[in-house]
Amino acid sequence: MQVAVIGLGYVGCVTAACLADAGNTVVGIDSVAMKVEAVNAGHTPIVEPGLDEMVAANHAAGRLSASTDFARIDDVDVVFVCVGTPSAETGALDLTYVRAVATHLGTRLQGRSKPLTVVLRSTVLPGTTRNEFIPLMESSSGLTEGTDFFVTFTPEFLRESSAIIDFQNPPLSVIGAEHPASAELPAELFSSLGVPVQVVSTGVAEGLKYASNAYHAVKVTFANEIARICQASDIDGREVMSLFVQDRDLNVSAKYLRPGFAFGGSCLPKDVKALQHHADELAETVPLLQSLNDSNDRHIMRIVDVVKGFGVTSVAQIGLSFKPSTDDLRESPYVKLAAALEAEGIAVKAYDPIVDVDRLMGANAAFVEATLPHLSEMLTDSVTDCLEGAEVILLGTNNAEVCEEVLAHEAVAVVDLSGMLPVRVENLLRSRDVRPGTRAYTGAAW
Ligand code: NAD
Repeated sequence: MQVAVIGLGYVGCVTAACLADAGNTVVGIDSVAMKVEAVNAGHTPIVEPGLDEMVAANHAAGRLSASTDFARIDDVDVVFVCVGTPSAETGALDLTYVRAVATHLGTRLQGRSKPLTVVLRSTVLPGTTRNEFIPLMESSSGLTEGTDFFVTFTPEFLRESSAIIDFQNPPLSVIGAEHPASAELPAELFSSLGVPVQVVSTGVAEGLKYASNAYHAVKVTFANEIARICQASDIDGREVMSLFVQDRDLNVSAKYLRPGFAFGGSCLPKDVKALQHHADELAETVPLLQSLNDSNDRHIMRIVDVVKGFGVTSVAQIGLSFKPSTDDLRESPYVKLAAALEAEGIAVKAYDPIVDVDRLMGANAAFVEATLPHLSEMLTDSVTDCLEGAEVILLGTNNAEVCEEVLAHEAVAVVDLSGMLPVRVENLLRSRDVRPGTRAYTGAAW
């Protein structure tokens, strides 16, 4: 198939590369020239394991290219819309990019030689595809969805750092459509993934994506709250939770239920906020959902209290992206932690093995500017520089090289924030002789 992917961000790049890898001819379209140039040079503009190789191979094979020109959609069978849906200041979902794309797509519909199917992949609140996206395309084209052109909302379940595997092996494959005809082409495209395709209404598919992300946030928050309570009595919350997930009657996946650091990234915080805001608009009271971001913020401030308890005036913080193996800083709890420590007068030296702060773009750059504008001044060039003289090490990565250097360094405390350290490293940290009067913290149960 001839495919266009609009938006070459964390979702769009993976979508474009995976669809090209499956044998389709794909053009990625983005308004940011740097992203387009990267793909046309055979590189990914984002950091994601395996993606650079996949982009390079498919670009070389002539199946993947990119452009800033919307006219490139004129020849394609299907368009995937993967533009961002960030939080507005109020917490509401900002649909600016989605609306602009709907209008733009509509203006290119007249006079096409073949019908167009649009797969909306950006996360939008229940009712948006039917009440906003389709009407915008219809009014800007003068055509009718379901006969002249086709639209589906097809939720994306990939997670950064395992995005390619997640894209190719989705936990479920759901197509939201207002007309059966609209689902035909996406069903054909997704049936190759080996997961049964379920066709539902657009609203159900949109609601499913929010239910899924809210539940992830509930699980992280729940595990961290249990761990905080256990930790206060010197009990390992991780051991508690690892038994909890074995309870057959609960029938619950262990994913997201391992105590660790606060949730972050481009999805959970903003999707929880959007649900909270949407519930307010609908005059629905949802105390459980309303509490999630507060509990998550408390989890970050807990570490500030822990560091203050050590009585030190400086820390080394390693790992800044919202989770290991990605360069995504959006809503990173590690960046928020560094800002909160500084606000308490604690100096932070920071290092991240992946993030290139000088090349931040778009929402990543905006988040840093709003949260910690002088982040680049805190950064060291190497983990060795970061650790030099460090009394307390806050470890937010499981990068092997970094872990080895941390093992070689004496410190008052090593706080494993991510809860994802390799077992060998954790055991060595646990068993290490600690200087008199000091403690090494290696558990993640904060
Ligand atoms: P992103 O900000 O990384 O990428 C969005 C891209 O769209 C940017 O490159 C931007 O330049 C481009 N863009 C914006 N307006 C455009 C326009 N008019 N024309 C062309 N390009 C335009 O966002 P993302 O993380 O890839 O997320 C995209 C959507 O997918 C969001 O709705 C998000 O909630 C959802 N989602 C994200 C993830 C994830 O892990 N990141 C997972 C599932 C779903």
